[in-house]
Amino acid sequence: MGVYAVFKVNADEAPDYADDALDMALPMWKNKGGNLIATKASFQKSNVDLFQEDQYYFADKGWGTRTVGWAKLVSDNITCNPHPDDWPDCGDDKITYIEIWLNSTTTPFLDGARARVIGHEFGHGLGLGHWDYALSNSTIMIGSGLPSVDPTSTDVRALNKKY
Ligand SMILES: [Zn+2]
Repeated sequence: MGVYAVFKVNADEAPDYADDALDMALPMWKNKGGNLIATKASFQKSNVDLFQEDQYYFADKGWGTRTVGWAKLVSDNITCNPHPDDWPDCGDDKITYIEIWLNSTTTPFLDGARARVIGHEFGHGLGLGHWDYALSNSTIMIGSGLPSVDPTSTDVRALNKKY
């Protein structure tokens, strides 16, 4: 607790729009007091990589076709959450690498909304699950649909309990 998580994020494999959204997503948690330092890094040095595929790829993976993003969590080369059934997290295993997949079919139009999708997936990478019954304006970690807010005090409290 009180230790900052460190994300070194690469978006070389994602389209340009993801890069713009990423710029907005990087400081999102820290700006609200969350213990996360997120910066860009080369593909070789990153521990978080962004990718994009369409709804058919998402369906094929079992991630759902209407899902806007998916955080594939890896602990020592083993994917902890290959399917939604295995969700949400790696249990007690430390997450060592994260792939964030964006769905090109359902991605929102505005950079701010796209940034919140990435910020939401960051939350999963930090071990946070969904607040399924929360109001959408009280958390970025809503269980379905698009987050309408940046990380809130509720989200930051949950994060900082882990770090
Ligand atoms: Zn989610």
